[in-house]
Amino acid sequence: MINIVLFGKPGAGKGTQAEFLKEKYNLVHLSTGDIFRFNIKNDTELGKLAKTYMDKGDLVPDELTINMLQSEVDKNPNAAGFLFDGFPRTIAQAEALDSFLENKGQNITATVALEADDNILVARLLERGKTSGRPDDQDEEKIRNRYEEYSQKTAPLMNYYKNQGKFYAVDGIGTIAEVNDRLNLIFDKLV
Ligand code: ADP
Repeated sequence: MINIVLFGKPGAGKGTQAEFLKEKYNLVHLSTGDIFRFNIKNDTELGKLAKTYMDKGDLVPDELTINMLQSEVDKNPNAAGFLFDGFPRTIAQAEALDSFLENKGQNITATVALEADDNILVARLLERGKTSGRPDDQDEEKIRNRYEEYSQKTAPLMNYYKNQGKFYAVDGIGTIAEVNDRLNLIFDKLV
């Protein structure tokens, strides 16, 4: 079983690339952002709670996020592997994921990051905001807040995984196909 964390700043292209990777490597794709948005759309309790944070570009509290992620994993008992997209985003989440997987006799295979410059990404998100309908993509201040959250809470995860020898990075700038080729080179070595 392989469990891969797709890592990168907002707008780095995780969701786009995950669509290709999940097919090619037969992985269950779990995007915490997508799951939260699904809950918001369906007006669930979880959605109502998450919305207040997401609309501001703040991270949703760890406990809520971790519980949600674990229940999504448990919904897929026959999965050949998982592609985690947007999770973990804090050290507490990474530790929770490690112990959750360990209890199942599994572990994280690798973390693969999509790297890109902030200014390029902010422009991408503002462009996406014109059509995505996502409130967190439509306002530069909220976008900058997401980068602030990333720098403070998520960036430290790179060392967390580097220290375990599980960190890989690819250049996230280029066409979708070019970035996909770079990711495939790494995934082919992991699976
Ligand atoms: P992006 O990577 O473009 O910011 P996502 O769809 O991954 O988009 O996430 C959107 C929002 O959902 C985040 O800004 C945050 O509020 C919430 N969210 C997603 N994943 C997590 C997580 N692991 N922990 C806390 N909040 C999260």
